[in-house]
Amino acid sequence: MSDLTQHTLLELQSQLQSGAISSVELTSTFLARIERLNPTLNAFITVTESQALAQAQAADAARAAGTAGPLTGLPIAHKDLFCTDGVLTSCASKMLSNFVAPYDAHVVRACQEAGMVMLGKLNMDEFAMGSSNENSFYGPVKNPWDLKRVPGGSSGGSAAAVAASMTPIATGTDTGGSIRQPAAFTGTSGLKPTYGRVSRFGMVAYASSLDQGGLIGKSAADLALGLGVIAGHDPRDSTSADQPVPDYTATLTDSIQGLKIGLPDAFFDERLDARMQARMEAVMDAYRALGAELVPVKLPHVAEAIPAYYVIAPAEASANLSRFDGVRYGHRADSPADLTDLYERSRGEGFSSEVKRRILIGTYALSEGYFDAYYKKAQQIRRLIQQDFTHAFTECDLLLSPTTPSTAFQIGAKSDDPVAMYLEDIYTVATNLAGLPGGCFPSGLVDGLPTGYQLTGPAFSEARLLNAAHQLQQTTDWHLATPEEITHV
Ligand code: GLN
Repeated sequence: MSDLTQHTLLELQSQLQSGAISSVELTSTFLARIERLNPTLNAFITVTESQALAQAQAADAARAAGTAGPLTGLPIAHKDLFCTDGVLTSCASKMLSNFVAPYDAHVVRACQEAGMVMLGKLNMDEFAMGSSNENSFYGPVKNPWDLKRVPGGSSGGSAAAVAASMTPIATGTDTGGSIRQPAAFTGTSGLKPTYGRVSRFGMVAYASSLDQGGLIGKSAADLALGLGVIAGHDPRDSTSADQPVPDYTATLTDSIQGLKIGLPDAFFDERLDARMQARMEAVMDAYRALGAELVPVKLPHVAEAIPAYYVIAPAEASANLSRFDGVRYGHRADSPADLTDLYERSRGEGFSSEVKRRILIGTYALSEGYFDAYYKKAQQIRRLIQQDFTHAFTECDLLLSPTTPSTAFQIGAKSDDPVAMYLEDIYTVATNLAGLPGGCFPSGLVDGLPTGYQLTGPAFSEARLLNAAHQLQQTTDWHLATPEEITHV
């Protein structure tokens, strides 16, 4: 394969290490591809070209001096809700369209300290609210597999950029499915780590008890390499877990003979399209062939996950987004008559209707008299769902389920129907409510469009989850499929 951009992070790592390529060469190649494809796909909001080339030069100098680390010189791009010192962090909102962060998010800094090269900042649904990447002040992202379709969301720019080989790997965030669902829609691999595994410091907050940073890449092995960089304790995030970070790549090759994989009854229901079900059967067969044992398990309360999530997430969002008042950050209305006018018009102009809808729902759910009926009830359901998972993991090591009920839908198909859009998260939100790690990996095409299967594990089981996904990627080629339309552009 001569085109460098088509390689995995792991392959590029060995080419850098052997001296076959330099980081400047690699970075320039990706920058040129971004320049070619971004007008079509709209995956990047900002391309940090000169900064990337300077970082690549520094990486090559470190390699020459013998001080390079394992990831030195490898490119990455960040979802535009990770704060980047001196570079626009817009969260795809008009509200933050003039916000240049004065510091780096933990994840951004960790990548930089590992010597990685930042190519730019990726498009997303505004404030990470959405499942299609249509809610962006910077316009929708197109799915590289079919430009009339959405790439999923909210990390749609991250998924499209990896699927189109504009970057070998990208960060994303997942509050209710925003890494896994776009990975499914674009034929990429995505990992939402355990809540607390990756610091939220410098991530613009949506729903703080659910938000988790993670990665989208071309393979499970690439995710393992990247997770080793971004995981770890950070005292600046009080919910960051003080747990050692294992070498996620070291266990990838372990056998999964005897691994018990649970099939939750609630996730194989009539909502799942028959051809999606057929892809799941193929995944099950491939796992069986590797020696895994598939067992039925029950998750009795996950049917309530969507209503619980769409109370808890907006409630937390309504509190988190109160900081955008036209005074401290971002957009400020012109010539306000008084303070109230300043607040009202700055927020009225800065937020899109989806963000306003969430703030309204959240404020209502938290208001006096409704708190018990909605917020408290949702938290009770959350606890029951957590208990369901705890019980399921006494019977199996990992859970296997679909990621989405269907393949990527057409741009505009659900934009006028918020409830239809919220139902996109039907298979993913329970994992966030329970704080567990979840991954999505390609499971073959349906009508020329990618599908993805989901693995969910107990807290801090990322090594095992990635091991299982990697083993499957050794015996199947679903993760190698690329979108014909743009691959050779
Ligand atoms: N689609 C879900 C929402 O809109 C999840 C978003 C996310 O995970 N950030 O809230």
